[in-house]
Order: sequence, then structure tokens, then C-alpha cells
Amino acid sequence: MNSTYYGRLIFELSKEGRRGCSLPDTGVKGDYAPLPDNLLRTKTPALPRVDEPTLVRHYHNMSANNFGVDSGFYPLGSCTMKYNPKINEEVAALEGFTAVHPLQPDYASQGSLEAYYTLCRALAEIGGMSEFTLNPFAGAHGELTGLMVIRAYHQSRGDDKRRVVIVPDSAHGTNPASAAVAGLKVVEVKSRPDGTLDVEALRPLLNDEVAAVMMTNPNTLGIFETDIPEIAKAVHEAGALMYYDGANLNPLLGVARPGDMGFDVMHINLHKTFSTPHGGGGPGSGPVGVRKGLEQFLPNPRVVRNADGTFSLTDTDTALGSVSATLGNFAVQLKALAYILTLGASGLMEAGSLATLNANYIKESLKDKYLLPIEGVCKHEFVFDGLADKSTGVTTLNIAKRLLDYGYHAPTIYFPLLFHESLMIEPTETESKETLDQFIDTMCTIADEAASDPDMVKAAPHTTPVRRPDDTQAALTPKVTYSDLIADADA
Ligand SMILES: *Cc1c(COP(=O)(O)O)cnc(C)c1O
Repeated sequence: MNSTYYGRLIFELSKEGRRGCSLPDTGVKGDYAPLPDNLLRTKTPALPRVDEPTLVRHYHNMSANNFGVDSGFYPLGSCTMKYNPKINEEVAALEGFTAVHPLQPDYASQGSLEAYYTLCRALAEIGGMSEFTLNPFAGAHGELTGLMVIRAYHQSRGDDKRRVVIVPDSAHGTNPASAAVAGLKVVEVKSRPDGTLDVEALRPLLNDEVAAVMMTNPNTLGIFETDIPEIAKAVHEAGALMYYDGANLNPLLGVARPGDMGFDVMHINLHKTFSTPHGGGGPGSGPVGVRKGLEQFLPNPRVVRNADGTFSLTDTDTALGSVSATLGNFAVQLKALAYILTLGASGLMEAGSLATLNANYIKESLKDKYLLPIEGVCKHEFVFDGLADKSTGVTTLNIAKRLLDYGYHAPTIYFPLLFHESLMIEPTETESKETLDQFIDTMCTIADEAASDPDMVKAAPHTTPVRRPDDTQAALTPKVTYSDLIADADA
């Protein structure tokens, strides 16, 4: 990165009269103006005027400031940042898919409908569910949809007073948020010291106002919940349903199925478990699956296979309504389908086991230098509670920032909320042993630096273009344009 260039935004490089691009001829002749007068510009837009190399460097350097799975190791716990195979992109870019219009008649979009249907069947097999909808746009949107299915189920039985959703204290923040958006009340249940859910802690909370219990397995600590069948029995006896947050499905692929454990409704994050690219809030896809007997509540529209082998879009009036325009994030669905078909059943089974092996390898290699609050075998991810040696005052935030200097994306920090210094590491299955070893070496180096030069670690990062933004303000009031920045500097 050219630092003299970097400090200067393209607006500051602007020189009157320079030009770095030429626009194609629009073909519009004369003074024909297709827009009404009140929509036409009255002033020249304040765009930077630069030569072509400056323009190219601007975009090139911006792209290089963006960290992704293709730039380096990205052990962001809970997010499953696995490699995105490029063949998925090729499949999703096929013209037969990209040129289809959402309102095209069924007979003219059979290939797309078949792709949707095939992915639904594959997910039903993987999840042990009866039927899936691919319409929700993200995991959180899937949670909302799934909870709406659960409400529709209770309402169909005239059981309208069930408005409580029970979530463990280790739950991802989207669980209680989705319940609230669905108009339900959240009750938290405490985990055992090992992070798993205690059926005895749950029993007293179960009554005729409970709509559902939401769980993820393995839980957010990467620990496999062994008591699900017993929990499901207690929940079902109380008349409530079991919701599976499928964000952690990766290690279970082809090994265990939520439907067989006793879950009634689940979502899957295609952008996590099924390798489609994500970051910065999208693009996602959160298909929702239901067990037998709940299919009629899934949102409209649905894709059905007719007796003659053709496919149709249908709406049913038992459905909870619709949750998205047409069929959701179709390009993301195609990438996930390509991934599933490329790996096949045996490849998917291997993915989960390798992800688990990689996580345990890092955990065991680092547990002398980092505090491991829960011993034993984890699944695809695990959580350290900061450095083992707390005397230096170096925090999880400092370690995360120092990792940036070494060219890594930081792990997830301060989540789950069960520990003060959570550092949540998920390597995924797609990293080589050499990459894992390098990361382990770097984590050891940082632990040593924390002991020998704590102030340097506390001042990290030292090499990134932006050093320590205010995380909260960056999310709440982001400065996304040059004039935002100028306004800020002038204030
Ligand atoms: C990522 C995640 C979610 C939310 O999924 P999005 O696709 O980000 O909306 C829910 N639960 C867990 C455990 C997650 O890791």
C-alpha cells in the first residue's frame, strides 16, 4: 500500500479539467429529456476530476483494504468463514439463471424452479426435516419465519396464549431479537458451568404459555448438547415446540440431524454452512425447515413438483403469508446447491469432521497460553477467556487488534457473554495444517509480547490504515461519503 496515496482521498486529488473515463454514447438525440424538469440536475455534481491511472488506483487500493476469506485466515467464531469455492460463482452466473425474471411463468422457468426444489430436498435430508422454504434472506430472518410458523401452529389449534420463547443464556443475540420481532416474550434459562443446557433448570419454566424453546447445537461455546432428546421430551409434553438455530450445523453435517434429535423447526445459514460468501451484513439466505405436520404453515410462495415431473409455484391459505419477494436470495441458493452437489454426501460428512479436528487442534495447541474455561472436546469452534496470564492487563480486544498487524482477521470477541474475555475461534475445515500452525505460532508470539512488552500490544494495531475506530459510532453513525467526513472535520 502506498501510504502517501492512501492518506489522500480521491476528492483531494481532484484537478479541474482532468478526466479519467469516457461515457458511452447514450444514443439519445436532440434535447429529448425523458425525466420531468423537477427531477433534472440544476448544478454539476461535485465529482472528483482525476486521470485514468489515479481512478484505477483508487478502486484497486480500496479493494485491497477489504479483508476477506480470499485474502487470509478468518477465524471469526460463529460466522463459519469457510472458503467460497469459485465453481459456485460460475454456476450462479449461468445465463439461464441470471436472465430469468421473477414473474416469468412457470413453464418458462422450470430449470430455476427445479434448482430451488432440489436444494429444498437436499436440506430436508441434511436436517432430518420434512420440508423447507428457501425464502428468508438471513439466519435472523429464518428465525423470525420459524417463530411465525410456530405461532401459526399454536393458533391453528386455538392455543393463542403461548407467547413465551425460552432461550439459553449462551444464545446468539438474534434469538431473543427475533422472538421480540415476532411479538413473543423472551425468558432466559441459565446454562450449566460447561455451557450446556440443564433440563432440570428448564422444567420449572415450562408451562402452557410457552410457544417454543430455541437452541443451537453445538451451542455457541462449540460444545455438543447431549441432553436434547430429554429436553425435547419435556418441551413437547408441555405443548411447546423445539426450534433449532442452525448456524452451528457445520460440524454435524452427515453425522447427526436436528430432526432426529427432536427439533420441530430449524433454519440453516447457507452463507455459513454451505460456503456462500458473506460479510458486512450479506448477502445471506436462511432457509427454514419443519417436521412432518407443520408444512402447511411455511410461507408463500412454495415450489411443488407435479405428478408429471414439472414444477410450479403455489400459494396456500394455511401459510403464514410471505416473508420475501418471490423466492428469496436465489443467487445465494444456487451457490449453496453447487456446493452440496460438488461435495456430495461423503464430502459433506468429511467437512464437519475436519472442521471439528481443526478447532480441537488449535485449542489444544494454545491452551497453555490462553485460558480455556471449558476443557474437553469441542466441535467446530471454541472459546478462550483471554490470556492465561492476566497480570499484564492485556485484554482480548488488544489481542484481536494485534492479530491485525500479523495479517489475520480477528476472532469473534466478547461473545458469548458467559465469560469476561471471550475470544471465539472457528477455523473451519478448509484451512491447511500449515495455515493453522502459522496462526498458532502467531497467537503464541502475541502471548509472549503481552508478557515482554504489554504497552506495545495494548497500542495495536500499528500497521493498519485505520487504527482504532469507535466501534459503536462506526455502526450507529457511519461516515460513508466524503462530505460526511468533511462535515465532521469542520464541526
Ligand atoms: C450467525 C448466527 C445467527 C444469525 O444469522 P445471520 O445470518 O447473521 O442473520 C444466529 N445464531 C447463531 C448462533 C449465529 O452464529
